[in-house]
Parts: sequence; structure tokens; C-alpha cells
Amino acid sequence: MNKNIWRCECGGLLDLEFDARFPLKEITKRKETLWRYREALPVEDDANIVSFDEGFTPLISVHFNQRNVLIKEDHLFPSGSFKDRGATVMVSKVKEIGVNRIVEDSSGNAGAALAAYAARAHILCDIFVPDYTSEGKLVQIRAYGMNLTKVKGSREDTSSEAMKFAAKYYYASHYWNPFFFHGTKTFSFEVCEQLGWKSPDTLILPVGNGSLLIGVYIGFQELMRENIIEKIPRFIGVQPENCAPLACSFKKGLNTIIPIEKKPTIAEGIMIANPIRGVQILNIVRESNGDFIEVSEEEIIEALKEMIAMGFYIEPTSAATIAGVKKYLPRSSSGEVIVSTFTGHGLKTTETLSKIF
Ligand SMILES: *Cc1c(COP(=O)(O)O)cnc(C)c1O
Repeated sequence: MNKNIWRCECGGLLDLEFDARFPLKEITKRKETLWRYREALPVEDDANIVSFDEGFTPLISVHFNQRNVLIKEDHLFPSGSFKDRGATVMVSKVKEIGVNRIVEDSSGNAGAALAAYAARAHILCDIFVPDYTSEGKLVQIRAYGMNLTKVKGSREDTSSEAMKFAAKYYYASHYWNPFFFHGTKTFSFEVCEQLGWKSPDTLILPVGNGSLLIGVYIGFQELMRENIIEKIPRFIGVQPENCAPLACSFKKGLNTIIPIEKKPTIAEGIMIANPIRGVQILNIVRESNGDFIEVSEEEIIEALKEMIAMGFYIEPTSAATIAGVKKYLPRSSSGEVIVSTFTGHGLKTTETLSKIF
């Protein structure tokens, strides 16, 4: 697909059909970046790759009450969150199709990631954010030299403003644009390689719009299709109690997303009341025999304090996932290989952290 489109002509979601290949011997000889999976990334010409040599983040073992969980340290990306996985592939593709101005809406981190890669590619980028976004993320977007527009109202109001504006340019959305997911899928390739080309048993991931969870699922599917691994792990999605539309639908056995009344949460990065790809996410979690876990504000703050006391400087949204890990552990079996992640760096949210500490 080399056309300047980001959704189907019918207005619906677009997904990419793509045959990923994994020449393992060559892969292991390459630089330790996410671009080592070159044959699995849908960019045609190497000359279009926009990269900081990112990825291949450490998979570190962390103790929780006598149990070990493997945590992918994705807060260590160049712009400070896992969104760089999606941004490096999507912005490379944008360059390949010859677009020079892109538009995105974000609660902060996706905007910061896109702004960083746009700067590296000499592309202009317009980022729309809700006016409650952390100042650290806003400064970052402006500092990269990109246009920033704050929108009053809900996260959804921000999206519709961005989509209107994007009619003139290219909507490089981290939840509409399929190329973003073909970047976040590298999480799975790295985890499998770090486990000796094996799948973990269980993945515990945050879910807002699903830009990580859906990408990770695509990654495991591609590895299965090429017979690199033997199974797809169980997917556990974590949402804040104050904004948990998917967890609610899942528990009710529904296959639609019912609008919820959301309350503010300290996990601003996953405060998504109406996820566009919600049905896709529900299906992944169901098919994998997974589940959703809801975490309270108190549980998020407790997990945040605990992680930072261990030296992991993460942002509150990341701590929500860890709160989910802690709730999941009592029902895990011994020997179960569990992988989770730190999604965003604490330096992004100095204001919030200064209120807590
Ligand atoms: C974006 C983000 C998430 C969740 O991602 P979704 O794509 O909305 O599911 C989790 N943590 C952090 C820090 C993020 O920036």
C-alpha cells in the first residue's frame, strides 16, 4: 500500500496484509535495534527508514512477593515511551509515500514520539492534545519544533478536531493508521528472541486505544505463521477502574463497546472512553483465553511508589499496568512465564510526581 490513505473508503478501519519473514541467522547478527527484524517491517526502501537505532529494550526480571515477572523496559525509548516503536515505522512509511506534513491527536506520548521522528525526518507535524495533558509532554512536542494545539473538552473532542484538520494533510494516527501497529508489533519479536525464540505464557499490557496490545498480537501471529513459536500467549489487558470501557464490555460478555461515564484517572495515557478498535481488542483477549483487570487509583499510586522505590522511574500510566500485574499474580501458576512492561518514563510527569513525593 503506497497510497496516501489511513482508513478504508467506507470510513472503517484499515488493516494491513503483509507477509513477515524472519531469517533468524541473519537477524541475530544485526545491530540490537528493532529494525533488525527488517523483513518483517513494511517499509520498502531502506533509504526511507527514520530511526534513532531504537528498540531491543532490556527484558528485566523484577521480584513481586517471591514471584518473578519479566518487564520490558520500554520507558527507555528515545522519546520516553513505547510509542517510538510505532512512530519509527509509521514515519518511515510516511516518508516513503512522500507526505511532508502529518497530523496526530494524542494524550501526550504518541504526540511526543511522532514529533521526535518528524524532527528526524524533517517533516512538519501538527499535534492536537487534550488540555489536561502533562506539561512535560507538551514541552517536549514544542521543543522538537512541532505545532501544538490544546483542545478543551474530552479526549474524543481532541480527535475530532485533529481529523478535521487532517483533511488537508495526512492523519498519522496511532490508532487508525495500520502502520503504527506494524511498529508496536516489534515488542513481540524482541520478547520472543530474548526468551530464546519462545513465547511467554502470559502478557500483561495496558489498554487505552490498544496501540500496544493489538500490535503485540499481530507480532505473535506473524511469528506463529512462520513457525518461529508454538503458541500465542494469554493477553491480560489492564484498565483504570475510572475509565474501563473494555473491561466492562468483556465482563458482560458483550461484543460491542458501551459508552461509559469516565472519571479522571492519574493514568492519563489510558483514559480512553471510546476506543475505536475496541471490538478488535475484545476479540484478541477472548481468543487468547485472556482477561481484563481493573485497577483503582490507590492501587496505581501504590504500584508507582513501589516501582520508584526499586529504582524504576516510571510515569503513573505505566504504574497502572504494574498494579494489574500485582492483582494477577495470586491467580498465576508457579513456573508461568509472565511478561509485562514499563510503557513510559517518569521524567514526563514531573508535576504529578512532585505532588505524590
Ligand atoms: C499510549 C500509552 C499506553 C497505552 O496505549 P494504548 O495505545 O492507548 O492502548 C500506556 N502507557 C503509556 C505510558 C502510554 O503512553
